[in-house]
Amino acid sequence: MDQVEWDELCNDINEIYNLVKCNKNGNTASYIPQLAKVNPDQFAVSIYSLDNKYYGIGNTEEEFCIQSCSKTLTYAVALRDNGRKEVDKHIGREPSGARFNAFVFDDENKPFNPLINSGAIMSASMVKPECNDDKRFEYMIDTWKSIVGKDNVGFNNAVYLSEKNTANRNRALAYLMMENNIYPENTNINKTLEFYFQLCSITMNCKSMAKYAAMLANGGTTIDTNIELFNPSIIRDLLCIMYSAGMYDYSGRWSFDIGLPAKSGVSGVIFAVVPHIGGISVYSPRLDKLGNSVRGVEFFKMLTDRYKLHIFDTLIKCVDNKKSILKVNKSKL
Ligand code: GLN
Repeated sequence: MDQVEWDELCNDINEIYNLVKCNKNGNTASYIPQLAKVNPDQFAVSIYSLDNKYYGIGNTEEEFCIQSCSKTLTYAVALRDNGRKEVDKHIGREPSGARFNAFVFDDENKPFNPLINSGAIMSASMVKPECNDDKRFEYMIDTWKSIVGKDNVGFNNAVYLSEKNTANRNRALAYLMMENNIYPENTNINKTLEFYFQLCSITMNCKSMAKYAAMLANGGTTIDTNIELFNPSIIRDLLCIMYSAGMYDYSGRWSFDIGLPAKSGVSGVIFAVVPHIGGISVYSPRLDKLGNSVRGVEFFKMLTDRYKLHIFDTLIKCVDNKKSILKVNKSKL
């Protein structure tokens, strides 16, 4: 992206940030007590382009638990380590049409997709099941570190304990799947649940989340170190699911209006992937009733009102008043 376009984009982000900041609607997540305690006024926006330009505004260095955003990387790693065919035996690829922690399964009794709790517990069961818990956790946290830098990933033990102590629903889901007989052979259900809670309690900041999103926009290769962590076909599979099911029960409307693969977490983060352009992350803990950050959704609405970022905007040839940044990366398309 050339400097003039980049500067204009940063100016727009700045302007939108200040407009959205006035919105104080919504409440922090209350079902995990430690999440209810965070300062609800925090607000940050970060963007990384594929050529490693960065812009951020607000509380971009503030750490938060990545919560459901962890589900995306766990699924990518499960695909990389087990192959699509094996993973498909245990996890579906359909939006569930129900809440992220609902007791619903597809017609083969599998979780509908890897981005709802049941599906993420299943993905976790497929990551290094042959190893001890310490190695499994280290493997995933090291993967996060290899994407965003070793000093930019942490773990919030209080959230982990809080989550573990209030996890009756997740335990019930995990046991129902046991009853459905759909785990890979020899799965230890309690260890898998622990692993899942730990992955949700990993901490990062808004800046790092945008860098992760940019790695996805780059097809699985890190934007600074240029290491291919994932085959692009894995990222394509992941982005398809994020496009149809990444925003809880708002996913259909999000794809329709915003048109970008994205994932939301109950800590108040939303990251979106703009293929061939970069990654954008917004953090603001007040949630709407579906579990999405209120300011996050509003920010992306305003941004995509100004810019042709919807993945199908390229079909619209007529001149409209939206700005385009796609043209600068034509060589990559
Ligand atoms: N840790 C949360 C849970 O399992 C993750 C949910 C979320 O972010 N939607 O309930």
